[in-house]
Amino acid sequence: MELFDIMSRLGYEQLVLCSDPTVGLKGIIAIHDTTLGPACGGLRVWPYASEEEALQDVLRLSRAMTYKSAAADLPLGGGKAVIIADPHVQKTEALLRAYGRFVDTLGGRYLTTTDVGSTGRDMEYIRQETRHVVGLPTTLGGSGDTSIMTGLGVYMGMKACAKAVWGSDSLTGKRVAMQGFGKVGLQTAHHLLKEDAQLVVTDTYDGALAKARELGIKVVEPDAIFDGPCDIFSPCALGGVINVETIGRLHCRIVAGGANNQLLSEADGAELHRRGILYAPDYLINSGGVINVSTEIGAPYNPDRAREKTERIYEIMGRVISIAKREEIPTYLAADRLAEERLKSVRSIKPMHRPCH
Ligand code: NAD
Repeated sequence: MELFDIMSRLGYEQLVLCSDPTVGLKGIIAIHDTTLGPACGGLRVWPYASEEEALQDVLRLSRAMTYKSAAADLPLGGGKAVIIADPHVQKTEALLRAYGRFVDTLGGRYLTTTDVGSTGRDMEYIRQETRHVVGLPTTLGGSGDTSIMTGLGVYMGMKACAKAVWGSDSLTGKRVAMQGFGKVGLQTAHHLLKEDAQLVVTDTYDGALAKARELGIKVVEPDAIFDGPCDIFSPCALGGVINVETIGRLHCRIVAGGANNQLLSEADGAELHRRGILYAPDYLINSGGVINVSTEIGAPYNPDRAREKTERIYEIMGRVISIAKREEIPTYLAADRLAEERLKSVRSIKPMHRPCH
């Protein structure tokens, strides 16, 4: 891999290798872009099979955060961190605090938060070493569980899509097939149930299905979720579920869910468009989590402010649909365009590497 080629071609500003053998720390922080504000993104603790895999992941994820924050109209740039470790056995206070000291050296250019393999409790340890951390538990004045706002944002995104497809944003009576009934699935479902949508869900974990049944929601086998009649297909589990194998099985008019990286490839986004299925770009409608943590910065966390900002996803999704229609392009490209236009407009008035406080 020609690292500097990749960095200059895709606009990465900085990569930091964090090593502390005394505590087993092998980490990478990637700052993709700070045009709009400090780079913000979660810490992923994962037992990567190789250093190259970890590097590719942090590069991909940090760039995605730039687009997510830009499209969500946040004053944040894109960054991400990975630690090569098994979170269940190798994640210690010493490791997290050593990582926190590296975050601190960046002086606020990167704000760390939770992601796969890291929790609010871990942020408390990191906070011992640096103040450049968000996503702290509510008991420490932080914004707590991100999935509440993520679920709200997914719901608002669905409503904006419904308006475009059916002329009304009401989801009453609409059939929603949801893949994955974890934290985000559950929070999204609460809003859908309040509006009397008809939900059918699946999950690979029995505990999640039990929760769905308790709420009176119909449950199907994991593979059957693609085939049933529905108005909206909502991926709320893993990435890559929209692909050549699954697209032909979908009977919906809208794909809108909380999972990251739903399209296996860009061609799958184009194929949805060709079939007349409206796709709500994942990073746009699942941005409620980063919106939530962003409201911790510079002011005490205020859930009303977080909610109000998350509800704006409705309007932004509408704007993306308008761009897609006007330019006759798929919505995933329209969202990228919206994000890039914002970055370009701000770049033209601000120097690229400005200090962040
Ligand atoms: P979670 O672990 O709470 O829930 C995911 C659920 O998906 C689990 O119950 C799991 O059993 C289920 N699942 C896994 N594979 C499945 C399969 N093949 N079929 C059906 N179910 C399957 O995670 P979460 O926080 O709800 O996140 C869900 C998705 O949303 C992830 O892609 C995550 O990256 C994304 N996301 C989450 C947030 C957030 O605030 N939590 C924010 C943005 C994006």
